[in-house]
Amino acid sequence: MVIAIDGPAGSGKSTIAREIARRLGFYFLNTGSFYRAYALNQLERNGDPRDSDSVLENAKKINLSIENGNICIDGRNVEDRLRTPEVDKYSSIVSVDPRLREYVNQQVRLIAKGMDIVTEGRDTTTVIFPDAEYKFYFDASPEVRAERRLKEHPDGPSYEEVLKAIVERDRNDMQKAVGALKKAETAIYIDTTYLTINQVCEKVEKAIEI
Ligand code: C5P
Repeated sequence: MVIAIDGPAGSGKSTIAREIARRLGFYFLNTGSFYRAYALNQLERNGDPRDSDSVLENAKKINLSIENGNICIDGRNVEDRLRTPEVDKYSSIVSVDPRLREYVNQQVRLIAKGMDIVTEGRDTTTVIFPDAEYKFYFDASPEVRAERRLKEHPDGPSYEEVLKAIVERDRNDMQKAVGALKKAETAIYIDTTYLTINQVCEKVEKAIEI
């Protein structure tokens, strides 16, 4: 079974997807980690993240795997390097290329094959798993999403900088020619702005009734 959640950065997808997976004993699969790992790979090779040919070429030189829930580049755990402001920004930029998207989608579908999963991203309900048994679209105001990010990284950029980066990333994610962030027609919409993690989990659990 596939439970898929899409929505903008900071809408609560990862936190809720991980918690729902834990409660159900399902596998948690974060699709954004793939784009983050390819953006990191490009930066580590001093490549231009805006040069899609070079990003794709370098992506094909490495092997991405998930070990104990951590994403690895050629067996090296890079999970703790994926959440910097630089990788936030460039993951969104590299993910515009439809060829890289198809490459990621193939890997995600292969990993998910035959498993019960809770997955999340921007196009998991529309492109990767359009036939998922349960689909959700999470949303929240940009201000609350920026506050959530700030709490996760209190020593990082200021509130104003985080808010600006979120608005820019939303714009980029919604304008992609392929895999743009949008609500699937059949997805259940949940505005998480004023909800606690537990309240969102309850809504999801009520909807899936497993
Ligand atoms: O979800 P997360 O913020 O980790 O994703 C990082 C970036 O990867 C997003 O801003 C988005 O541009 C891209 N992404 C995507 N499609 C997905 C998941 C993530 O384009 N399914």
